[in-house]
Amino acid sequence: MLTVEEALQTVLGHAAALAPVVLPIAETLGCVLAEPIVAPGDLPAWPNSAMDGYAVQAASTAGATRQTPAALEVVGQIGAGQMFQGTVGGGQALKIMTGAPVPDGADAIVIVEETDGAASGRVAVYRPAAPGDHIRPRGEEVRAGETVLSPGRPIRPAEIGMFATLGYARVRVHARPRVAVLATGDELAGPGEPLRPGQIRNSNGFSLAAQVASAGAVAVPLGVARDDRGELLQKMRQGLLEAQVLLTSGGVSMGEFDFVAGIMRELEATIHFDRVAMAPGKPTTFATAGDRLLFGLPGNPVSTMVSFELFVRPALRKMAGAARLFRPRIEAALSTDFKKRPGRRTYVRCLVTAGPGGYSLTPTGTQSSGVLRSMALANALAIVEAPVERLPAGSRLPVILLDFPEDAVVPEA
Ligand code: AMP
Ligand code: MG
Repeated sequence: MLTVEEALQTVLGHAAALAPVVLPIAETLGCVLAEPIVAPGDLPAWPNSAMDGYAVQAASTAGATRQTPAALEVVGQIGAGQMFQGTVGGGQALKIMTGAPVPDGADAIVIVEETDGAASGRVAVYRPAAPGDHIRPRGEEVRAGETVLSPGRPIRPAEIGMFATLGYARVRVHARPRVAVLATGDELAGPGEPLRPGQIRNSNGFSLAAQVASAGAVAVPLGVARDDRGELLQKMRQGLLEAQVLLTSGGVSMGEFDFVAGIMRELEATIHFDRVAMAPGKPTTFATAGDRLLFGLPGNPVSTMVSFELFVRPALRKMAGAARLFRPRIEAALSTDFKKRPGRRTYVRCLVTAGPGGYSLTPTGTQSSGVLRSMALANALAIVEAPVERLPAGSRLPVILLDFPEDAVVPEA
C-alpha cells in the first residue's frame, strides 16, 4: 500500500498547469496569475497630499504655536482630481484635500486640525511643519518597470485592486480546472427528495462540489449514478468529456456493488493506486486517461472530504498554476487524551484554537469516517502516525489548517 506521500507524488506527477487565458480583472478572483504584473509608471504618479489641510513651505511655519500662530495667505483651494495652476510661495498656503497633487513650491502639508481651517484670507497655523510632512511622494508605492505581482500568485481582492490601480483591465491567468463530480450509490436521494426506506441523502455530491469551488476550480455536477455498470459507464464517460478531472464518490470498497475501478478500466484509464495507508480514506483510487485525472474517492462522507483535501486539492492547485499547493501546517497541543487503533496514519478532525500558550487542538467528536458532523465542526486535520495508540493531553501534533474560525484569536508571530 502506498503512503500518503507516495500517493500524492503520483498524483502530482500527472497534474500540469493549464494553459493561460486572458480575463477581465473582475472575473479573476480565485484564479492564479500567469504573467508578471509590471508597473507602467510610478505610483503615485505625482506627489499628493495624504491629508486634508494646507500645502505650504515648511519654513513659513517655523516657530508657530497656538498662542503665536503663523498667519499664511490662502491662495486657493483644490480637491482630489484638480491641479493648482501656480506656485505656493513663502508665507502662502493652498487649501488642499486628500489625494490632490501637491502644488509647485510647497514641501509640506499642514493638517487642517492644526489650523483655524480658513478657506480664504489668512489661515492661522498652530504648529511648525517639517519638509515632507503628509506628502505621499511620487513612486512611494511602486516604481515604473517594477514587477509588483509574480506568476503563480493566487488572486485575492487586494490583487484585483492592484491590477486596477496599475491600469490593467484584463490579465493573464491560468484557466480554472473543470471538475466533474459524480456520486454513486443506489441508496442516495438528493436533499429535498423523498427518502424511501433504506435511503440516505447524497451529501458527498455537495461537499465535493463545494471543495472544488473553494480550491479555485469549477465543479460540473453530474448528480447520482445508481450502482449499475451501464449507468456508471455513461456518466463517467460524460464526466471525462466535460471536465479535466472526474471525481466519483463511493463504489471503491470491497462490496458487491463497487464497480468504479472496473469502469475506469473499461474507459481505458490506467489505475495508479487503489489503496493508501491512511484513515479515513484508505480505498482512494487514482487513475489517468490521457490528460484526464480520475479520482475514485471513498463513499463515507468524511473519507471523501479528507481524500479530496490530501490528493485532489493539491492536484487542482497545480493545474490552476499555483506556486504553492498545500494548506498551511502548524503544530498544536492536544487539549485532551487521544486514543486510536494502531495500524494506519490517521487524520483527526479537530478544532484548532489559539490561546496565550499557543495553538491547541480538540478532536471534534466521533472519528468514524461516516460521521460528517465531526468534519463540520472541525477547522483542521491533525496527523497521528500509524503505530500510535494513545496520546496524553499536551502531546504536540502536526496539523493541517483547513481554515480558521472567526472566534479564534491568532497570536502575533
Ligand atoms: P460505498 O463505498 O459506496 O460502499 O460507500 C460507503 C459508505 O458511504 C456507505 O455507507 C454509503 O451509503 C456512504 N455514501 C456513499 N456515497 C455517499 C454520498 N454521496 N453521500 C453520503 N453518503 C454516501
Ligand atoms: Mg456505494
